[in-house]
Order: sequence, then C-alpha cells, then structure tokens
Amino acid sequence: MWRATVLTLFPEMFPGPLGLSLSGDALSRGVWELETRQIREHGLGRHRAVDDTPAGGGPGMVMRADVLAAAIDAAALDDERPRLLMSPRGTPLTQARIRQLVAGGGAIVVCGRFEGVDQRVIEARALEEVSIGDYVLSGGEIAALALIDACVRLLPGVMGEEASGHEESFEATLLEYPHYTRPRDFEGRVIPDVLLCGDHAKIAQWRHEQALRLTRERRPDLLAADRKTRD
Ligand code: SAM
Repeated sequence: MWRATVLTLFPEMFPGPLGLSLSGDALSRGVWELETRQIREHGLGRHRAVDDTPAGGGPGMVMRADVLAAAIDAAALDDERPRLLMSPRGTPLTQARIRQLVAGGGAIVVCGRFEGVDQRVIEARALEEVSIGDYVLSGGEIAALALIDACVRLLPGVMGEEASGHEESFEATLLEYPHYTRPRDFEGRVIPDVLLCGDHAKIAQWRHEQALRLTRERRPDLLAADRKTRD
C-alpha cells in the first residue's frame, strides 16, 4: 500500500482536503495510508522547544537539527521511502517526480516552519528538498498536501477513468487543450463546431493544435526542454 508519513508541527492540518473527494474515498478504502508525526514530541525542555535563534543573527527562528533528526529517526529509521523536505529553495516538483514517488511505494514528508531548517539535518538525514513553486508559504504543510494529492490521484483505483491521468498537462510535453460541456451557447460563446462533428480524428487534431498553441503562448520553456531532450 502507498504510504505517506508527514512530520509536522500541525498534524491537525491532515488529512484536511485529502480526506475529501477521490483521495478521501481512497483513504477510507485503504488504497493509501496517511500517518502524521508531531515533531514537537521530540522537542526540548518543559516547553518542548523545536526552534532556536539563527546562528550568525538575523530575523526569525530556525528548526533545530537535533529535534528534527530525532523525529525523523523515530518515524522512519530503516525506511526505504524517499525523505522529502518541503522547501522553497528545493528542486521544483514535476509530474515526472510525482510518478516516481507513486511507483516508489510512498514518501516521508517533512514540513518546515519558521525561517527554515538547520542545514545539518538536511545533510545528515539525506533530505531531498522539494519546492512546489517560486513563492513562499508560511509552512510546509500546504506544500505537502499538494504533493500527496498529486501522488494519490495516480494510484490505481483512485481516479474514475484511468485514462484521464495520462492526457493531462505535463504528462506529455504539452499543456492540456481547452474543455467544453453543455450548454452549447453560454452568454453568446459557443462550443467550437469541430467538437460536435463526431469525427474523432478531426477532434484529436484540433485538440493537439490547441494544446500546442497554449503551450507556445504560456510555457515556451516546456517546448524548449522537449527539443533539448530529443536532440
Ligand atoms: N526563509 C525561507 C526562505 O526564504 O527560503 C522560507 C521559510 S517558509 C516561511 C517556512 C517553510 O514553509 C519552509 O521551511 C518550507 O517547509 C515551507 N515552504 C514555503 N514555501 C514553500 C514552497 N514554495 N515549496 C515547498 N515548501 C515551502
């Protein structure tokens, strides 16, 4: 079974949205498992401190290496699953990495808080830093929810139609084509005729052209990266 273990100071944030809809149904059917671990259980002293002031000065607080290492060891000693640290300076998360995580049986996900995490625990516990985008969240929990959601929906038996996992944006190089449904006329905007003609080859061709157009307009970097891998 695919298993996610989340280390966090806010276990109440889980399963959160993952407890609803497709991922929630799959969770209650036992298709995947979610375990949360409270980092503060390994905190120090009467107040279970998990953070301290940054060496070298500066604003904010830093999560202590010894506390986080103890939490990781308690949750994941001798565990083969990848250890991810949600981090804005990490490697940008891609659909390809999500597919690897799905195939790999699960993930251990560490959620940072404050100014971040002491560098030494990242190195000592071989944490892979993963970013969900070039913006800064106040903690790793929302990033972890996004990562786990992207994995869970690809597990066998989670999505209604298996095929829908394969024709989406990023599965190939192109962004997805535009979708339409009833009514045929919405405030004077009509569904393109080609989608109503019943000719599947023509529809596929139109969708491909639209996907190409959108990718050129919005994400030319995807096309450039694809050309590079083909060369
Ligand atoms: N001082 C850090 C910096 O400038 O890179 C930002 C720390 S942020 C306020 C606190 C935590 O939120 C981070 O340790 C990380 O776990 C999480 N986080 C914030 N933005 C993220 C992003 N884009 N992707 C993944 N995790 C993020």
